[in-house]
Amino acid sequence: SIEGTYIISLAGNEVSQKLTQQCLESCQKVGQPNVQVFPAFDATDSKIKVQNHDLGKPIGELGTIKVPEFLQGQAFLNFLRKLASFISNDYLDREATMKHAIVCLLIFLCFSCTVSAKPPNILIFLADDLGWADLGFQGSPDIRTPNIDRLAARSIRFTDGHVTASVCSPSRAGLLTGRYQQRFGHEANTPPPDQGMDLNQQTMADALKNRGYRTGLVGKWHLGNADRFYPTERGFDSFYGLREGSRSYFFSPRREDKPSSTKRIEKNGATVAFDGYLTDVFGQQAIEFLEDDSEEPFFLYLSFTAPHGPMHATEEDLERFKNITDKKRRTYAAMIWAMDRAIGNVLDSLDKSGRTDNTIVWFLSDNGGATGNGSINLPLAGHKGIKFEGGIRVPFLMSWPERFPAGEVYDLSLIHISEPTRPRLISYAVFCL
Ligand code: CA
Repeated sequence: SIEGTYIISLAGNEVSQKLTQQCLESCQKVGQPNVQVFPAFDATDSKIKVQNHDLGKPIGELGTIKVPEFLQGQAFLNFLRKLASFISNDYLDREATMKHAIVCLLIFLCFSCTVSAKPPNILIFLADDLGWADLGFQGSPDIRTPNIDRLAARSIRFTDGHVTASVCSPSRAGLLTGRYQQRFGHEANTPPPDQGMDLNQQTMADALKNRGYRTGLVGKWHLGNADRFYPTERGFDSFYGLREGSRSYFFSPRREDKPSSTKRIEKNGATVAFDGYLTDVFGQQAIEFLEDDSEEPFFLYLSFTAPHGPMHATEEDLERFKNITDKKRRTYAAMIWAMDRAIGNVLDSLDKSGRTDNTIVWFLSDNGGATGNGSINLPLAGHKGIKFEGGIRVPFLMSWPERFPAGEVYDLSLIHISEPTRPRLISYAVFCL
């Protein structure tokens, strides 16, 4: 019964018994004496025994899962402690839905431990100011996104995914650190020119680089213009893109591509020229990063500027949406079409290299659709810049073909950072690796 009894599924050996005891004490402190403890799994630092339960009665052992070598030891015990802390701190504050979040995490853990010991590759597609309603799989009647829809079909689709800020820079600070960005003073969208994301914060790229990953950022940074905040100083082996939050989608040598401009396109510190439409160029650069045949797993953060303004699209893409009479909306649709094409090319490249199965792919937007780019957030209220759902609830996908079934829909709340106070996913998964 959700009303009176909660299932806490840690028990068994000395370590997990201790964790379970901590959970129980926490439960009693917050006035939940009816908590029962069921040994749903029994874990050591190298294996997990999984049992099945029906309202508290063990109804069979599902088997023993060996924890792969790269997860064994202290890191794994830390994972269990985090899980216990998550349960004891938060579980009882929330409604029944939290139970499902925990089940999801347990499933994640179990799946994480069942297949090869090879760490997964990680690829994040981040859209910029994308409207809630503006993708094919979100039901858009006028915008087509066949490649993102293809990704959605093989993903878990999180229908209630949120970001921690309704504007670009703080949302990205949360994503990359796994922390509420307010904790390190990163609440404003545009920090003063000489400031950026707190240098004391570890980024996801730092964490993965320390674990032997090859790390790359293609696209928008927006976490500080000064050299000391440069992506290659924050855990990324390589960077192709812009320091700022937006720019022209075409090469502009007299304006944004001047050597003095913080919006110029750079490659590992050098100013570079580019041909064509920027979203396509970002896709090509991402593919170049993926085509490196080194042995290490990779982390690629493909951070589009699309469909953030300025509203620029190619004539060819505009032609495709000539049935949309509103000019801004037509341009916006064409910009998303270009982003979808770039994502399709990157997914194809991944397929060709045979690495799709062991690559975790995320797709989400840094915040909701903006008022100025022709986006639609309906039926959500609000938009970029405010805290109604239209500002912070975003299309949110995760695919990992080797370990997760395709086409699952998860309709409970989650957020894109990793602090142990809310259901969480991206950074959580990364920092647990
Ligand atoms: Ca944004």
